[in-house]
Amino acid sequence: MRILKTLDNLRTYRSQVNNLAFVPTMGNLHAGHLSLIERAKQEAVSVLVSIFVNPTQFGPNEDFSTYPRTEAEDLALCEAAGVEAVFLPAVETLYPNGPSSESFKVSPPSRLTRLACGADRPGHFEGVCQVVLKLFHLVQPDVAVFGEKDAQQLAIIQAMVQDLALPLSIIPAPTAREADGLAMSSRNRYLDTPEARHAAALVYQTLTGVKALYEQSAGNSLCVEEAYSQVWNRLKPSVPEGVTFDWSYRLAVNKTSFEPEENLTPDSKLLVAARVGGVRLIDNLDIKN
Ligand code: AMP
Repeated sequence: MRILKTLDNLRTYRSQVNNLAFVPTMGNLHAGHLSLIERAKQEAVSVLVSIFVNPTQFGPNEDFSTYPRTEAEDLALCEAAGVEAVFLPAVETLYPNGPSSESFKVSPPSRLTRLACGADRPGHFEGVCQVVLKLFHLVQPDVAVFGEKDAQQLAIIQAMVQDLALPLSIIPAPTAREADGLAMSSRNRYLDTPEARHAAALVYQTLTGVKALYEQSAGNSLCVEEAYSQVWNRLKPSVPEGVTFDWSYRLAVNKTSFEPEENLTPDSKLLVAARVGGVRLIDNLDIKN
């Protein structure tokens, strides 16, 4: 496996391969990332993974400095998964003038950023677009695989590729989950008590609960807010004592346009974020597969 740290390393590698599938990550790889790599292998002989904790997508009070960095384990996982090359740039390689210097940026349209994580994390998606566009220019992949776990990010990247006519295809990959439904995430390791871990599973149970209500509604209109409240009133007593559980948002959007919806429709995508024991978790589910 090739380990590429500089732009020159990356460009030399790129000039030697024909068809390339790209999986951008922030490292601390888990089975969700590995499922993206498997998907990438179906698309191209050569798979390149990037590992870069991108400072520009973290807010001032977020976990950039404590974000888990596990380079040796990540490289071993990539090698075992049959990855051909890993791009592991230093911050100054991607941001030679420093990450907080003024620089060219892409602003994603507000119709895609004004709600959910875009509203909760000002500047987050600008930072995501900044680094992903730069990585696309550098890596020049034929396809790039992104997880549906980060539904708003996926919608924004798809829109960026379309609007800017970038010459690659975006492949969405389904969310990998733990046995109890919790969406795999690098931040799950902060759920460091069995009680917090137990409470975290209620995020997905809320989504499946709302979906079940919709299925039972047999075409009668179902208000999004009421559906969430009804399900949560049933589940809330299962939050173990001493664990804080605060919803940041509970929404439904149209899965194509990302417009918020008041009532559920067959095209709804449920989107939620919660702080469980102080850990921010996000998840989503289509009302109909
Ligand atoms: P991250 O390292 O968290 O920035 O994620 C890198 C890529 O992995 C993104 O495209 C994520 O959407 C995707 N990803 C993260 N968690 C999961 C998961 N549980 N299942 C599938 N893809 C995931």
